[in-house]
Amino acid sequence: MNARSEPGLRAPQQRAEGPTASSAELHRRRGTAVARGVGSVVASYVDHASGGTLTDVDGRQWIDFAAGIAVTSVGNSAPRVVEAVRAQVERFTHTCFMVAPYESYVAVCEQLNALTPGGFEKRSALFNSGAEAVENAVKIARHATGRPAVVVFDHAYHGRTNLTMALTAKNMPYKHRFGPFAGEIYRVPMSYPLRDGGLDGATAADRAIELVEKQVGAENVAALLIEPIQGEGGFVVPAQGFLPALRRWATAAGVVFIADEIQTGFCRTGDWFACQHEGIEPDLITLAKGIAGGLPLAAVTGRAELMDAVHVGGLGGTYGGNPIACAAALATIETMHELDLVAAARRIEAVLGARLRAIAERDPRIAEVRGRGAMLAVEIVAPGTLSPDPRATAAVSAACHAAGLLTLTCGTYGNVLRFLPPLVISDDELTRGLDILDTAFG
Ligand SMILES: *Cc1c(COP(=O)(O)O)cnc(C)c1O
Repeated sequence: MNARSEPGLRAPQQRAEGPTASSAELHRRRGTAVARGVGSVVASYVDHASGGTLTDVDGRQWIDFAAGIAVTSVGNSAPRVVEAVRAQVERFTHTCFMVAPYESYVAVCEQLNALTPGGFEKRSALFNSGAEAVENAVKIARHATGRPAVVVFDHAYHGRTNLTMALTAKNMPYKHRFGPFAGEIYRVPMSYPLRDGGLDGATAADRAIELVEKQVGAENVAALLIEPIQGEGGFVVPAQGFLPALRRWATAAGVVFIADEIQTGFCRTGDWFACQHEGIEPDLITLAKGIAGGLPLAAVTGRAELMDAVHVGGLGGTYGGNPIACAAALATIETMHELDLVAAARRIEAVLGARLRAIAERDPRIAEVRGRGAMLAVEIVAPGTLSPDPRATAAVSAACHAAGLLTLTCGTYGNVLRFLPPLVISDDELTRGLDILDTAFG
């Protein structure tokens, strides 16, 4: 079949061949075939998925408040993405951009340079995963500055490769017994209003900066790496003014400010990028997750003079900027413009936020409702304390799963229930998901 001869192609609702096994059977096969270290949130195996729902091989429907961890913002098998991928698969599948380049890689870089915050000249480079983008941002910052140190924050998550494990804060499950880790990484306190006594942003930034200056020395620091809203660490939103103060310090100290927008980017927080909320212009920005409608693509975008400091051949990889992933990214970005997913994220925030605050009002286990756009969470504690309650968090999440709502937990203490619906989720799906959540809290 030729996709180009089928205008108005829709996402397929069902695979050509139906499911061959039940979830129970697949789970048994998995046990003897797949490494135990790779976990899954649920034991239901997916057959097909659309805007806001997944259907498993047993025919059960799930409302999706996970989006594959903030990836399928445009939905699963989004029509434009399916069309672009099919057309590209038929033209060519891989040449390696470092061997024989092609237009879509260049076009994605042009789009990223234009979309990301910062009115300066930019360049981009494409990779496969978020961790790989973070690794490369650090490589670029070190190369451009000739300095070794990287400053990261408590509760940070930057990936699972050796360098990015070192950059990540949490031991279990990410780092435990996987060391030794890369050196020259320095961790400083995050602004975490619920847990730092509500320190204002400027004071929290001073606390972090003082540690760096006393213990590392600004002149030794290549980069300051921060998620503008922390993802795996618990959807921690720093106090107003924290990011701008760090940005000002980095500029004055000649430190490269890297924003890891892998989870927050591409309309998720109700702006194209979370940095825009406080008008921050990072020197480098790392991107992945929502960028390509589910195909593996990641990027580093930033100041031309930093990106171009690296010698020819110093950056790359066999698959980085694969043509199918690039086609998907261009279709994803087009879909985000066309459907105005920035506005969609803000609409989701209004509906989801109101329901979460109503639940928090009656349930003293909820210490805080926080986040921005379609990236919201509740932090769960023993009532009347700030003592994290990961067991209650897991229990509410399990009740959601049993009732057909796919939710995720996160946080250093495992006590944050987070919500990342696809930005194209329908009002009906959103409401049905929230009804399940409401019941799960009891
Ligand atoms: C997911 C994530 C990463 C790692 O991305 P992978 O594609 O899983 O390697 C890095 N930083 C942040 C903020 C993330 O959310």
